[in-house]
Amino acid sequence: MKESKYIWMDGELVKWADAKVHVLTHTLHYGNAVFEGTRAYQTDNGLAIFKLDEHCKRLYNSAKITAIKPNITLEEVRLAHIKLLKANEFKSGANIYIRPLIYLGYGQMGVHHINAPVHTMIAAWEWGAYLGDEGLENGIKVCTSSITRNPNRSTFGKAKAAANYLNSQMAKYEAIEAGFEEALMLDENGFAAEGTGECLFIVRDGVLVSPPNDNSLESITQATVIKLAEEFGIKVERRNITRDEIYICDEAFFTGTAAEVTPINSLDHREIGNGARGEMTKKLQSAYFDVVYGRDKDYKSDLTYINHKSVYKKGGY
Ligand code: PMP
Repeated sequence: MKESKYIWMDGELVKWADAKVHVLTHTLHYGNAVFEGTRAYQTDNGLAIFKLDEHCKRLYNSAKITAIKPNITLEEVRLAHIKLLKANEFKSGANIYIRPLIYLGYGQMGVHHINAPVHTMIAAWEWGAYLGDEGLENGIKVCTSSITRNPNRSTFGKAKAAANYLNSQMAKYEAIEAGFEEALMLDENGFAAEGTGECLFIVRDGVLVSPPNDNSLESITQATVIKLAEEFGIKVERRNITRDEIYICDEAFFTGTAAEVTPINSLDHREIGNGARGEMTKKLQSAYFDVVYGRDKDYKSDLTYINHKSVYKKGGY
């Protein structure tokens, strides 16, 4: 990974190499932490964070769900993102991935977590296309995972919690080892839930379909893509999708902050559509990039321009 200058830890800017924790950090053993994956894009007006407020809100909602009491306020975390990006002085012109994490620290062992100290850190580094530039253009090969998406009776799917990602990690591992690029997880009833870090969309006869969020994270990218589609006058349905419906759909793609809008060119060796990025996928992908790069004036308020003079004002600009 590409190192940056600083990592923000509990209010301090710490040199990247010094941003360390004790081996008896509670989260390291029992997996209770919540995090976000947020992106900042190089726009014509400099680096801008996309949907910073939504990501911070989801981080705090995740903490509430997993019974973690954050050690700092949401507004402090929001401002810390801006401070960190300014301090790191990213100069190469690459886009930035931001990873805030609220975790349980050193001083308490045992499963009962409530007395463990709470810490917050934010790291940011240069990171390109999560599923590759080639994937964005030509699509990726996906398999249906043998692993069921974390069921709602066992875990909290609305939380972006570290522990939830053991499931995703195993599904991703198996997919890559089997020669695929990503895994699609089904829910307990056999319906498509989500990718290991993405939400699913398919296109059938001009209608855009995405499963409800009953068995997926409430995705910020998914919501943006649905809004864009509706603005184009595309009919959008939120309903269950089976894996065989994906085999016969016209187009399919994944969405996520890291994955952006990535076409799926095959599922379980069945080519989707003509095996290339479909027309609707291309249209929505290009509209999404116009939004995040600040080229769509209607979405400018979703961007936090880190060099803007009013950047520290609460509630945006
Ligand atoms: N599902 C999972 C399991 C994820 O990790 C992500 C990435 N955060 C998503 C869906 C997509 O969410 P978002 O668009 O908010 O990044």
